[in-house]
Amino acid sequence: MKILLISPTVDAEKRTNKGLMMPQLALYILAGLTPQEIEVKVVEEEIDHIDLEQECNLVGISCLTANAPRAYDLCQEFKKRGKTVVLGGVHPTILPDEALQHADCVVVGEAEGVWETLINDFRNGNLKRKYHDPSPDLGRYIPKDFSKIIKKRLYNLIPIMTTKGCPYNCDFCCVTNLFGKEIRHIPIENIVRDIQESGAKNFLFLDDNIIGHPKYSKELFKAIKPLKINWVGQASISLLVGDDELLQLASESGCKMLFFGIESVSIEQIKIMRKAIQDIEHLESAFKKIKKMGILIHASMVFGFDNDTTEVFDDTVQFLIKNKVNTVSFNVLTPYPGTKTYQDMKKEGRLITTDWRYYDHNTVVFKPKNMIPYELQIGKVKARKQFYSISSVLKRFTGNLYNPIAYFATNYGHMKQVKVEAKRIAKIKSELF
Ligand code: SF4
Repeated sequence: MKILLISPTVDAEKRTNKGLMMPQLALYILAGLTPQEIEVKVVEEEIDHIDLEQECNLVGISCLTANAPRAYDLCQEFKKRGKTVVLGGVHPTILPDEALQHADCVVVGEAEGVWETLINDFRNGNLKRKYHDPSPDLGRYIPKDFSKIIKKRLYNLIPIMTTKGCPYNCDFCCVTNLFGKEIRHIPIENIVRDIQESGAKNFLFLDDNIIGHPKYSKELFKAIKPLKINWVGQASISLLVGDDELLQLASESGCKMLFFGIESVSIEQIKIMRKAIQDIEHLESAFKKIKKMGILIHASMVFGFDNDTTEVFDDTVQFLIKNKVNTVSFNVLTPYPGTKTYQDMKKEGRLITTDWRYYDHNTVVFKPKNMIPYELQIGKVKARKQFYSISSVLKRFTGNLYNPIAYFATNYGHMKQVKVEAKRIAKIKSELF
């Protein structure tokens, strides 16, 4: 028996900048869960061509929202060729009935508790339509084979996940719907084993908040310190700067850059989002403290909240340049299915499209309150252009002298994307605006 595991691109004709990408962990977990006598092939369409004619018995496709239409096209192609197709991932979990219109079977939520049962059922000709384990055991070790990626240097970072679940249930996020309200941990010895067995030196912790449970995080950082790795991850800024020991341990364990979901520099919006950051001064002093530890800051900003006016773009960029932030992701608010934001916007008739290809947090798919959709779209593109201009890169460099190579390498990667994005928006303008 042979299983083909696929992560599709959004657009089969285009690939993302490799430097900004990482391997899709879900595929390597599925491969690790598959009984050894079964041959498994992993294909990430961002780097590999998908051969629709290849020999296999079962095809597993994992997708988010933006690449769901491509996943559905692939389902059709493989089914035409007599293959059985299973869909899983964020989007099929949120909309399993939509996914079942395209696939033979859907895995809802995490695959850890159901993948082996699904394979057995398939072998016995008894495949069910849906598989779901709401709280699989995270305690057992699942080997993940990244050797091909590391040998061929296909990606810069190897992904690791240490926790699942989030108690906050933010309006625009579906993580709580996906993984539940309770934070569940993967045993630290399994994380250490993942790192050691991968043979890699550079890692990305995929957790929505690598310090969400400070006691666990401190133990984790102490355990990985002797491994002498470099890592980047996402963290809550208020938790981190309120705990000096945590910040120190993160730095000592190899943390080189942290992503912070700042989202907005508007105090009204920060209050609405119930962020623990109370004011801009608080945020600025937090930045200083993190930089002192030699950790680069990547901020994630979101444009398009109901309070945002056309002034938001310039205010945001000025704030980020003034604080000499290393890199920034400029996103537009995206009403992903499964979130309260989606339900509200649908009820209010504010969705411009439900073509999921555009649900990529870069494209405006709704009517904002205080500007027209195209103003929001162009404002976002210009903010990125301004932040990654040569003068801004040079100005911000003085605040990031502690890691000049990483500073210029990461800024260069983002600068290259500015033109790509402007071209893409010009291309889709007539389709959406
Ligand atoms: S945005 Fe972050 S804090 Fe809010 S629900 Fe999602 S993962 Fe949790």
